[in-house]
Amino acid sequence: MRRTTERARLCYSIALLVCLGCAVRASSQVEYRLVSREAIEGHLKSFSTKNNEREALIRKWLADAGCKKSNLAEQSLERKLPPNVICVLPGETADVILVGAHTDHVTEFGDGVVDNWTGASLLASLLYSVSGRPRRHTFVFVGFSAEEKGLVGSAYYAQHLTPEQRGHIAGMVNLDSLGLGPTEVWATHADKVLLDALAAAASASNLRAEAMNVDEVGSADSESFATYHIPRITLHSVTQQTWPILHSSRDKLDAIRMQDYYDSYHLIAAYLAYLDNALGKTADKAKATK
Ligand SMILES: [Zn+2]
Repeated sequence: MRRTTERARLCYSIALLVCLGCAVRASSQVEYRLVSREAIEGHLKSFSTKNNEREALIRKWLADAGCKKSNLAEQSLERKLPPNVICVLPGETADVILVGAHTDHVTEFGDGVVDNWTGASLLASLLYSVSGRPRRHTFVFVGFSAEEKGLVGSAYYAQHLTPEQRGHIAGMVNLDSLGLGPTEVWATHADKVLLDALAAAASASNLRAEAMNVDEVGSADSESFATYHIPRITLHSVTQQTWPILHSSRDKLDAIRMQDYYDSYHLIAAYLAYLDNALGKTADKAKATK
């Protein structure tokens, strides 16, 4: 999460996401698999405090989780910064669900476990979660570099896509600063379709997601995609009470509530599987009725 002001005041409106019109529970439509809580905890605990080592670890875990060598790449930035790391998990179509998390942290304070090792270290587990069955969408997992320097890696990535590639991104799901409590969503900066799908996935998996907006205090990599009108959503866990932990000496492993963190992983896995099934269907229907 990038702090844009030191004033610890979240422009927040707490609202439970309500799943309207999902009388048919989504669980019957989505399939995904989960890695164990021990594995999720293990990844979280093996953080490095060096940004280049973080990137290397994410790359290794993506490979270990089944990302083929030919689909795993590093994108060098035009500065002395660690690269973005990118894994493509092919699907039946060229339409893309992009899952991103920044790999860097502010090095002045704390260990940057919350912000954002919690997001980055889930990328490989989420790859595993959605790769157990055929997919309509191609999933692209990206560990973004240098978010804390001003969304540098995500801006570079979005900027260097072709207009056609951008047009194929059905949704960008950004993970930033999870595990401080239950899953929250930056609702005011989320695409409506992606937000509704989150409510449906939460309802189907009996997990919580609440709206918590960070408009006045911060930003996140999702905004690099909003620039190009790509539908985006940021999932986090920050509240008015926990916001001061970010970019402070308190950003350490012991700030994490492990059950909440595992629940967030579970919800995001369910959400990605749900999105794969749900996104594009409205467009398909529209085409069919023409
Ligand atoms: Zn941050």
